[in-house]
Amino acid sequence: MTRWPVWSIPPRLLGAVLAVELLALALVVAGALNVPRLDGDTVVLLATLTVAGVAHTEIIAGVERVRRYTAETHHVNLTSVWTFASALLLPPVLGALVVVVVYTHMYLRVLRPVPPPDRRPVYREVYSTATVVLAVHAAAGVLAATRPGELYGTLPGAVALLLTLLTYTVVNTCLVLGVVAMTAPDTPIMRILFGGDELALELATLCLGALTAGALLAGGPPVALLAMPPIIALHRTILVRQLREKADHDAKTGLLNHAAWQLRGAQALQLAERGRHRAALLILDLDHFKEINDTHGHLYGDRVLAATARVLREELRDHDLVGRFGGEEFVVLLPRLAGPDGHDGHDELRQIAERLRRRVAAEPVDAGTHDPGVPEGAPARPHRPGITVSIGGAVYPEDGSGITALLEVADSALYAAKRAGRNAVRIGPHPFRETGDAETATG
Ligand code: GH3
Ligand code: MG
Ligand code: MG
Repeated sequence: MTRWPVWSIPPRLLGAVLAVELLALALVVAGALNVPRLDGDTVVLLATLTVAGVAHTEIIAGVERVRRYTAETHHVNLTSVWTFASALLLPPVLGALVVVVVYTHMYLRVLRPVPPPDRRPVYREVYSTATVVLAVHAAAGVLAATRPGELYGTLPGAVALLLTLLTYTVVNTCLVLGVVAMTAPDTPIMRILFGGDELALELATLCLGALTAGALLAGGPPVALLAMPPIIALHRTILVRQLREKADHDAKTGLLNHAAWQLRGAQALQLAERGRHRAALLILDLDHFKEINDTHGHLYGDRVLAATARVLREELRDHDLVGRFGGEEFVVLLPRLAGPDGHDGHDELRQIAERLRRRVAAEPVDAGTHDPGVPEGAPARPHRPGITVSIGGAVYPEDGSGITALLEVADSALYAAKRAGRNAVRIGPHPFRETGDAETATG
């Protein structure tokens, strides 16, 4: 039996989720008690949109399953072609019916086949369905309020169509992202919305929905067949984009993986060369990480890696390239140092690296619920014990002109930082082997 994991939602979220679901349910029930008399045309439209929506989800079930595996944050669901067309052409209670049928079919074909624990909890699907039902009703409300007469072919109709489209987007997006913001406050909502293509994709889908609705009115059910190839092609393309995104990132830390970092770093250095400005590179290596693993277990070690990655992301600028070099080593490429050209790049880089070093040492790690170092029932460990990082750095163009040369210099500096006792920063070329006391004077 599948457990209904609704009680695992954080309590402050539960109220909001239930409120949205109850409102959607109330609207559906109120509509069902009050179904308008259906004429033949409405029945044909209802049947066409439902069949097309189900056919669409059936055709892309495989693609959508992979999408669910590869992206945690996506919320855009291309079935809004049909649900938005329903909002435009059908009374809201029938629009809601299309939504419920399409989403139930999607649940059965896309989500249920994914075995737990990867399967998303049912409440999320119920919530998504509820948000779309509300968006359909909000869209119908705008149409009722503007009373454009003919939706297609008149200026008031075009204005009403635009307002309806915006209302549908705002209601759906705000309800979904509101919950994301409550569950994961660290999620960069603005970046999801405006940084990637999510919002553009949602709008593109709705525009296609509006075109489909107009064409259905003019050309009848066979037109739905013409809308199918573009929406399926779009669906496949976003999967490719998602897979590329995943291929470039390291799963444990969410940072760029080595290959992607190296490629983008080389491009950034070319830009620095063309713009004749300074760039810089850092290698960071966690100190005594093997000991941390040995003492607290590898899962705890993984959380330290994730926490360190988060610190780096927070402390650096959006355009700085942060990557996982491998193991417990991180690399950063700063495409542009801020200082004027005459000023010492090494000093500036040392200040940045010192700031990173201090932040890592000060950062607590979420001990998690399964910390193997903590006996069951005992309170979770509030702070990680003494996690520090050693950092080596190199400046372009002073220390080298290509990414490999800079990596070598930064690596030599990192070894010097380790030799100096760890939890230290060294910048610029250093001998790889111990050469006596001269070491501590440099860097
Ligand atoms: P040093 O201060 O000299 O850097 O010592 P260290 O122990 O950090 O360095 P060493 O190279 O001896 O050990 C690195 C350890 O990192 C060994 C390996 O088990 C661990 N490690 C590598 N990748 C991962 C990972 O993905 N997760 C976890 N938990 N540990 C990892
Ligand atoms: Mg190492
Ligand atoms: Mg190490």
